[in-house]
Amino acid sequence: MKIFYLLLILFTILVEAETHLIVLGSGTPNPDPQRSGSAYAVIVDEDVYLVDFGYGVVRSASVLSSQYGGKFNQLNAKNLKIAFLTHIHSDHSGGLADLVLTPWIMGREEPLELYGPQGLKDMSKHLLAAYKLDIDYRINGSQPSNPEGFKINAHEIEEGLIYMDKNVRVEAFVNNHGGLNNSYGFVFKTKDKKIVFSGDTAPSTNLNKFAQGAQILVHEVYSSEGFLTKTDDWKIYHQAHHTSSKEIGLIANELNIDTLVLSHILYWGSNDLSILKDVKESFSGNIIVASDSLVINQ
Ligand SMILES: [Zn+2]
Ligand SMILES: [Zn+2]
Repeated sequence: MKIFYLLLILFTILVEAETHLIVLGSGTPNPDPQRSGSAYAVIVDEDVYLVDFGYGVVRSASVLSSQYGGKFNQLNAKNLKIAFLTHIHSDHSGGLADLVLTPWIMGREEPLELYGPQGLKDMSKHLLAAYKLDIDYRINGSQPSNPEGFKINAHEIEEGLIYMDKNVRVEAFVNNHGGLNNSYGFVFKTKDKKIVFSGDTAPSTNLNKFAQGAQILVHEVYSSEGFLTKTDDWKIYHQAHHTSSKEIGLIANELNIDTLVLSHILYWGSNDLSILKDVKESFSGNIIVASDSLVINQ
């Protein structure tokens, strides 16, 4: 009987320690109505950590939130308190006004904690200036509000450990997004998982160093087949900034990862089958094609 209770306690601890990775937005700069702006949530116990906040981020989180019939109370708007930005490109940061203002209106009482590249402080300052009239009216008018929840604590990062609490350690690493300096990927280490986010990147030796042995690698990709339809100037741009479906297969094979999540996909007329065929030429692990609201527990 004692053993039964010990096993029950152990099981409870293991269940509680489970980290959920949720794709909130699997999109790119293209306004695909099925794919919201780039955003992910890492959920550990009662806490949620966002990676990127593309267009529609709070509504994307609401889809699975308990407030709107989902099972994650962590995704209720007022619980969105910490976010990490891979780089300043608008398809990853365009939801900042939403992330600042909507959770505040829904009851968040503390400032939003933001971690990201150089430029984040300026972006935060200018965004609050842009919405000054709205914020002033909500604070000083008859609407019930609190005086802290719209504020932003912006932390500009460099490579290395950028955040740690009881649930997670987050490391940033410089990736290879063409000429855009200050572009990062992130390594999340929790009690039960190592999850790596590539950010937007061409093949990167630094990513290969940081992503070794991850259970989950969330990596961007473009279709090698679709690439053939691009004009020469776009070919030069994409090769320098992004990773092809053939390249990501080779990379994943070297990294000893369990699961590859393909997201931020540029299809250019191709499809999942074509991309998966390319990746499987070199990688035999699990492959998941990201879609919005997908919950990954592997
Ligand atoms: Zn992007
Ligand atoms: Zn980008």
